[in-house]
Amino acid sequence: MANPTPESNPSIGIYVHIPFCQSKCHYCDFYSITRAERIPDYLDALKKEMQLSKISGVRADSLYIGGGTPSLLTPRQMGNIVDWAAAYFNLDPNAEMTLEVNPATATTRDLQDYAAFGFNRLNIGVQSFNDHHLTFLGRRHTAKQALAAVKAGNDAGFTNIGLDLIFGLPDQTAGTWKSDLLQAIRLAPKHLACYMLSYEPHTPLHADLQSGRFTALSDLRTADLFRMAHDFLGAAGFEHYEISNYAQNARWRSKHNQKYWNFAPYVGLGPAAHGCRVPVRWWNHRSLDHYLSDIAAGRLPRADEEHLTLEQQMIEALYLGLRQSDGIVLADFQRRFQSDFKLYFHTAIDRFNAEGWLEMDDRRCWLTMEGMLFLDRIVDELIEMIS
Ligand code: SF4
Repeated sequence: MANPTPESNPSIGIYVHIPFCQSKCHYCDFYSITRAERIPDYLDALKKEMQLSKISGVRADSLYIGGGTPSLLTPRQMGNIVDWAAAYFNLDPNAEMTLEVNPATATTRDLQDYAAFGFNRLNIGVQSFNDHHLTFLGRRHTAKQALAAVKAGNDAGFTNIGLDLIFGLPDQTAGTWKSDLLQAIRLAPKHLACYMLSYEPHTPLHADLQSGRFTALSDLRTADLFRMAHDFLGAAGFEHYEISNYAQNARWRSKHNQKYWNFAPYVGLGPAAHGCRVPVRWWNHRSLDHYLSDIAAGRLPRADEEHLTLEQQMIEALYLGLRQSDGIVLADFQRRFQSDFKLYFHTAIDRFNAEGWLEMDDRRCWLTMEGMLFLDRIVDELIEMIS
């Protein structure tokens, strides 16, 4: 197979990780610590990491500040990050600029100030509108605060607001999930992410599951909740454009997250952040101390990097492409891998199509909603066919 041609002067995305939270949620596997007094040291180092990572000749058309809890930063601190992104990565004034917000820390005043620094998209970590579920997850906020955060976002003038929800909790019923979805629809967000609860090793929730304090929801019932979100949100006009993501229409899809799924280049900054410019992918140390000491020594705080072989890139293209309703674009696949997707995978394609899991036309191949439930199995079988 020939190597794909890297794009010259592409648009890039920038992800900045804010590794601080007020407390740790029981299910959380993201890197964050609760020592907010270290924020100033971290921001000094972040500026240096941006200087060290500076790329000439690019334009950044998305900036995503995630975490952690970015809304622990003052608006001025957030404004500094925007200024550095402009200075070192040529941040486009019209870039999609997303700020993740925790309902426990969102005030209209702060959100107005963030907006003044150019943020034009809020992603609010609601997770649930059910206080019992929020307590189970170890979230600090209540359903009332989640509603207040959305109102604060609207009052601050944000027209592009996304909400995150979690489903698949142990005692979640069709009724409680339906009321979460209906509440979300009533708030008219432009974007909704519905993540399935996962039990990550080394989290308190995983330990509680292992010790038998509760029983996980069965796969069958979890699948029913996934179908329910697809049906309810579809009926409310949302397009299910990625396995976990819905947008009011294509205009409101997350441009930044689409870069991850479409192999567009992005730079990740901060502890545990990942970056990618095909064929290279790299990631930073998952420790603030390690991160700070590397930066103090004038080094990029890289934990490691990998050079993806063409076969690895094809595997990623299958997995990431089939997560999206647009699916795999056959002409792109041909261009990148010098291979005809239909010919390469035709036996599996016919089988999955007969199951009702996969569809294909002259341009694309995509999974049906039922197929999305079997994404891992489908991709595993396709991978076995790669020689
Ligand atoms: S607020 Fe987010 S990043 Fe922080 S502990 Fe909770 S889930 Fe993790």
